[in-house]
Amino acid sequence: MPHLYAIAIGSNRPHGRHGRPRQVVLSAIAELDRRFGLFDASPILLNPASGGAGRNFANAAALIETEMEPRALLAELKQLEGQFGRRPGRRWGARVLDLDILLWSGGRFRCRQLTVPHPRLPDRPFVLQPLLAIAPGWRVAGPQTVRHLAHRLARRRPRS
Ligand code: ATP
Ligand code: CA
Ligand code: CA
Repeated sequence: MPHLYAIAIGSNRPHGRHGRPRQVVLSAIAELDRRFGLFDASPILLNPASGGAGRNFANAAALIETEMEPRALLAELKQLEGQFGRRPGRRWGARVLDLDILLWSGGRFRCRQLTVPHPRLPDRPFVLQPLLAIAPGWRVAGPQTVRHLAHRLARRRPRS
């Protein structure tokens, strides 16, 4: 039986061939479509990087369908990041492409390399907002949906 996964796609560094972060994210979505069944992809969100370095983040979310188990999918996503020129290390730094597994249809998954749902999902507007566009009713934990988490975060951090 195929599994459904929600993937976060992020870029904050241009790529020599693909171009600016927005283009990198678009190319990554096209590549996800090529490798897996792409169910849906969100609009791309552009965020100024925190810290005022002037570098823009581009973020999106996608729903993909695959027979792969979470660990195998993580390995495939890392391979895809490498294809876009990302080298291991430098967590949270500038990188061409970051692909995280946010949710999967199997509920919870936990091993040394992987925790699903992504533990920082409830705290990240730049992840929740795109996800809200394509999977508002997905239950993240118990009765809590993506919509619940997004609304809760918006209340916690007013925009103005
Ligand atoms: P964050 O997880 O806070 O978004 P990051 O994406 O910058 O940080 P990376 O350097 O890309 O962190 O990944 C570090 C490790 O996190 C990966 O090698 C992977 O084993 C692990 N990991 C744990 N849970 C997940 C998940 N749900 N999706 C992707 N990687 C995960
Ligand atoms: Ca990440
Ligand atoms: Ca990552």
